[in-house]
Amino acid sequence: MGALEGRTAMVTGASRGIGRAICLRLAAAGASIAGLDIELDQLAETGELVREKGTEFLSIEADVSSLQQMQKAVERTTERFGSLDVMVNNAGITRDNLLIRMSQEDWQKVISINLTGVFNGVKAVSRVMMRQKSGSIISISSVVGLVGNAGQANYAASKAGVIGLTKAAARELARREVRVNAVAPGYITTRMTERLPEESRKALRAQIPLQRLGEPEDVANAVLFLASDASRYLTGQVISVDGGMAM
Ligand code: NAP
Repeated sequence: MGALEGRTAMVTGASRGIGRAICLRLAAAGASIAGLDIELDQLAETGELVREKGTEFLSIEADVSSLQQMQKAVERTTERFGSLDVMVNNAGITRDNLLIRMSQEDWQKVISINLTGVFNGVKAVSRVMMRQKSGSIISISSVVGLVGNAGQANYAASKAGVIGLTKAAARELARREVRVNAVAPGYITTRMTERLPEESRKALRAQIPLQRLGEPEDVANAVLFLASDASRYLTGQVISVDGGMAM
């Protein structure tokens, strides 16, 4: 029997990259998945791959920066599956620029998806999980939220914010057996990093003790651990999956 047999997980930003890998990993452990993305048709492939693992997939179109849409998404999920045991706040974007050139619009856009989006996800599921007296909330931060990065003031602030939010929520929800943790990936091969020129990728590898970029599955494995009872005594923690970049 899989570690998540009979449980339900919601994953935001489920159509590609790390979000898709998380859906597949949790499905392989037996969880039914509610996959959420800003565009419904983008979710079709993830849905097919999840069903091949033998579990159910519910596609939900929602923008994480809207609390109302997130609340609706949670309602639909509990109506369909009867419970919501795992919430993975994964959706995120970048709008990079040096601080002196960064527009207020690019600052705001990143904060509203990467940080307010996580707030909305945590808030939308916490009532259900508190009532259940069980649940695991996992938010995807970044090594950049721990150590900063030139050209990513908005992104670094949003990802550091996710860590503070995780710790505050962990303290608030612990009494109801709801655990709240974060995963801080380093550089992972997805659309987000594919855009980098080879020269920059080379420079990146030089900063990574394990000397290679990570795969989405590396992040998904840490998420599975936090989602399952194997981590039942962990809350308010940040697990770095970064080849040793931040230590
Ligand atoms: P990605 O390939 O760009 O995927 C991001 C996903 O989020 C896409 O499915 C995207 O949908 C969705 N999304 C964007 N805005 C949304 C919104 N407002 N509401 C709902 N969904 C939205 O990115 P990734 O590399 O897999 O990153 C996943 C998470 O890991 C992000 O939080 C990212 O910051 C974090 N992370 C990534 C790395 C890395 O090296 N890749 C490192 C550290 C942390 P569309 O495709 O339809 O736009």
